[in-house]
Amino acid sequence: MSRLLIVEDDETIGASLESAFVANGHSVVRCVTGTSALRAAAERRPELVLLDIGLPDIDGLTVCRELRAMLPLAVIVLLTARRDQLDIVSGLESGADDYLTKPFSVIELLARVRAHMRRTTGRPESQSSGASALHFGSLIVDLDARRVLVGAVEVSLRAREFDLLARFAREPGVAISREDLMADVWDSNWFGSTKTLDVHVASLRQRLKLGAESAGVNVSVRLPTIVTLRGHGYRMDPPAAGSDEGG
Ligand code: CA
Repeated sequence: MSRLLIVEDDETIGASLESAFVANGHSVVRCVTGTSALRAAAERRPELVLLDIGLPDIDGLTVCRELRAMLPLAVIVLLTARRDQLDIVSGLESGADDYLTKPFSVIELLARVRAHMRRTTGRPESQSSGASALHFGSLIVDLDARRVLVGAVEVSLRAREFDLLARFAREPGVAISREDLMADVWDSNWFGSTKTLDVHVASLRQRLKLGAESAGVNVSVRLPTIVTLRGHGYRMDPPAAGSDEGG
């Protein structure tokens, strides 16, 4: 049984979520405003929060940031009525773990929550940020969801390209040798040409650049740079503009 906080001003949605989660063994508190949600969160320390973005008093993303600061380990799922990707990006940047666009199926919500709770339970303290998404300026690499966003634009990568980006994202600013990249991203028993590495890096750079162009993001300022280190390997430098700030 886990402590759940539902923040939703729509009575119909709030009540149906409450009964579904109570039926699944959660202990539920329901709030209809951001102010009451922050108070309830401080008192009850919920492990799971379902948070409507459109609240009558405080902006849902502001509530999300405050909840994340207060509850680093909680799973926060945003409920958004707007099919606006900007909301989704700002939501993930505000510390949410996941989001669902209304109307959504309660069965899907329960399944996603179960998956998140499993992951959180097994999460070491050192990774207690509550989110699997890594931020580098306008680039977001969500390791668990295997999603990549540049600004508001989702960039689709091939499996190896994603693995390569994820490898860089885990150690930004660190020189990684070709041998390590081949072993980590491909296979430690790879006997083929390591030319494939360069092809994938080139393609990854190109896809991120195209994503940035369609998102209207300044590549040289807002995206990390994958630097070629002759005779050694590669290094991904975070963008000069820093991370986690707007886009
Ligand atoms: Ca609402």
